[in-house]
Amino acid sequence: TEAHIKSMDAHRNLNAYITETPEKAVEMAKASDAKRAKGEAGKMEGLPIAIKDLFCTEGVQTTAASHILEGFKPEYESTVTTNLFNNGAVMLGKANLDEFAMGSSNTSSYYGNVINPWKTASGKDLVPGGSSGGSAAAVAAGMALAATGTDTGGSIRQPASYCGIVGLKPTYGRCSRWGIVAFASSLDQAGPMTKTVRDAAIMLGAMAGHDAKDSTSAPIAVPDFEAALTGDIRGMKIGIPKEYRVDGMPEEINKLWDNGIAMLRDAGAEVVDVSLPHTKYALGTYYIVAPAEASSNLARYDGLRYGQRVMDDGDSLDDMYMKSRAAGFGKEVQRRIMIGTYVLSAGYYDAYYNKALKVRRRIYEDFANAFGTVDAILAPTAPSAAFAIGENEDDPVKMYLNDVFTVPASLAGLPGLSLPTGLSSEGLPLGLQLIGKPFDEETVLRVGGVLE
Ligand code: GLN
Repeated sequence: TEAHIKSMDAHRNLNAYITETPEKAVEMAKASDAKRAKGEAGKMEGLPIAIKDLFCTEGVQTTAASHILEGFKPEYESTVTTNLFNNGAVMLGKANLDEFAMGSSNTSSYYGNVINPWKTASGKDLVPGGSSGGSAAAVAAGMALAATGTDTGGSIRQPASYCGIVGLKPTYGRCSRWGIVAFASSLDQAGPMTKTVRDAAIMLGAMAGHDAKDSTSAPIAVPDFEAALTGDIRGMKIGIPKEYRVDGMPEEINKLWDNGIAMLRDAGAEVVDVSLPHTKYALGTYYIVAPAEASSNLARYDGLRYGQRVMDDGDSLDDMYMKSRAAGFGKEVQRRIMIGTYVLSAGYYDAYYNKALKVRRRIYEDFANAFGTVDAILAPTAPSAAFAIGENEDDPVKMYLNDVFTVPASLAGLPGLSLPTGLSSEGLPLGLQLIGKPFDEETVLRVGGVLE
């Protein structure tokens, strides 16, 4: 814990944390020592981690990287952080993210950009990916042994890929959403961001479990994920979705993918082509469903109940809502609220939202069909390596394209593991992604352990 606190001091320029809690960390570490001395060590006893600032932490400011929540100190602890702390994990601080987890570059945070610890030869500052960019940068720079992330459409996997670490989005329902600031409730899922696949297995075991406080949390036992890492994938069938070979994909990503395929074959797996025919609609579907749910979830920030309030003498209630929300929400969040409100409004609901739900079902069925013959699917995590800060900023659609390989598994609620498997021509990390059957994190971890 002390070493990591020193590293946080040394890397403050990366802006990976919104709130640092070193005193609390030392206190928690001491309590861990005492527990260990009594022979009562939990699964993560004494291990110092960063918590994405989207998880409510009792008495510790929780901002969701938004101005509107500045100063908000929850009176409760999220279920996932409760589970982690009960298993002995030590909190170093709250990690930076895109505002309300909306983004792929961590440039929408009210608390400023996070800088990727990796650099090109020319030394340009790169994005860490998003939205869990602070979590990824903290782990990559040694400012945390591991971190929590959340993934709605790729926010664990894409920053893991950009920062050269491991990120696991579990099956929807595996980890409780209770106490996590909601973005899109039918997609949001918490998961571990770690240095190794084994660490991800251990941390997921410490986070997961049924929770009566989240009605979508699955009443399914938590297996021993670490035991799944046998290193033996002989006879397993891995699918390669042909629709992911998109036009204009950089050659180095194709090569990374081919290398992964070769490694799996060498290890005795059978690699076969599969088809996910509705892949081309996934991005459009996601960018209707996610903003629709966000517009509804974010209605609660009204200037009364949380954080910032802006009003002048004589203002009506509506004036106060308008001024507080205009001042409290950043540009990307406002854009999503407007898109979401539009697609849910009478007259457009059937044309957009309802249609998106139907396509979402088709995307799920594509995967279900593929998993009739294969155990897991291998694909790139993102179509590129980390890009320069400021790039894609003026073109939201270009930014959304980063999520092309991550949103399908999110829409289908499936587990996805991203792990670093190579470097780009500029020496930046690139990740591959394994997608598994519902509640079969064990298989993606086992195959991931072989690719690592
Ligand atoms: N980049 C996607 C978005 O902007 C995904 C974000 C996430 O998974 N939280 O919505």
